[in-house]
Amino acid sequence: MNNDINILELTFERFQHEMADTYGRDRYVAADVYRQIFKNGHLDIMKSRNRSLTGPFLDKLSAGIWIPPARIVEEKYEDSLLKFVTRLEDDQTIETVVIPMISHNTLCISSQVGCRMGCRFCETASLGFRRNLTTAEITGQVFTARFHYGYDIRNIVFMGMGEPLDNFDNVVQAIRVLTDPRGFDIAMSHITLSTAGLTDKIGQLAELNWPLLHLAISLNAPNDRIRSLIMPINQAHPMEKIRETLLTYPLSRSFSFYIEYVVIKGINDSEENAFELVDFLSPLPVWFNLIPYNKGSDKGFSPTTEDDMDRFRDYLISQKAFVRKRSTRGKSIMGACGQLGHSRLDPVIF
Ligand code: SAH
Repeated sequence: MNNDINILELTFERFQHEMADTYGRDRYVAADVYRQIFKNGHLDIMKSRNRSLTGPFLDKLSAGIWIPPARIVEEKYEDSLLKFVTRLEDDQTIETVVIPMISHNTLCISSQVGCRMGCRFCETASLGFRRNLTTAEITGQVFTARFHYGYDIRNIVFMGMGEPLDNFDNVVQAIRVLTDPRGFDIAMSHITLSTAGLTDKIGQLAELNWPLLHLAISLNAPNDRIRSLIMPINQAHPMEKIRETLLTYPLSRSFSFYIEYVVIKGINDSEENAFELVDFLSPLPVWFNLIPYNKGSDKGFSPTTEDDMDRFRDYLISQKAFVRKRSTRGKSIMGACGQLGHSRLDPVIF
């Protein structure tokens, strides 16, 4: 099985070379196969109009190109929102959330099993770090959402389990595969990578010069004192360093950095916090995404009410900030932000 071509980890360019090396076939055959798989979710013999894709060659091809089967072990709906749990080859599980929007669907994908950032308010953090996902396990989540469930996925957010920049190479390769126009064909500008703020890795990402990739920073605090309290990673990557890194990041001039801010009652939600936050970020183009603190297992923080959120949003707006409030969709199925990884704690909702 490991000698097979795992198409989910290959851009078309790489697939084409594999096809040439393994089967001695040219670019046109490779293009046909690649397109068919990403259009139909399988290599459908009858639908092929390419004459060289017949008979024994096709049998060989079908046997040699591996699309890892998704073992879905759990799925939960909250209205139209779906969370599905996939069991990986080594029996670890990951969670993925489909968030239907008005005109398209967004997929919230995982990049690691567990996470080593240790954010105090996050469920995934309590799993600890288990392992990085492979490129194919990352892109496979999109494949499953598209072809197993039939969703038209146009937006991807790396906001599921794990810290994407802590799995840099596989996440970067996954983005290359996801944006390949002959394959998944997801626009770079429809992908958001969310990070707890690993400054060295943000620097590495900058070197790739992908100005249309949206970058979200989970800042969650207006100053180092509060941030270090809730995000231990802040010791190694303090806020000033994050700001400096973003100042030289090659983001498209028409874009803003997304600043993710989990509003936690009594911790980071005062008027003073809002003013300090806006002031700190004033040299940067930013858009605030306010996320209500979703309570999972008890971490000693109080859940945020709608009123708390509105109050904090208004403080920011009074400082002329651009703010969006993230909805709490998925909360009851532990599918909301920061709740992935503990589905077994889920109260029954249906
Ligand atoms: N590690 C990455 C991506 C995963 S977390 C990151 O830190 O950005 C995705 C988002 O969920 C982050 O913005 C994080 O701050 C937020 N989050 C984590 N736990 C949460 C919780 N209990 N309630 C609400 N949002 C949470």
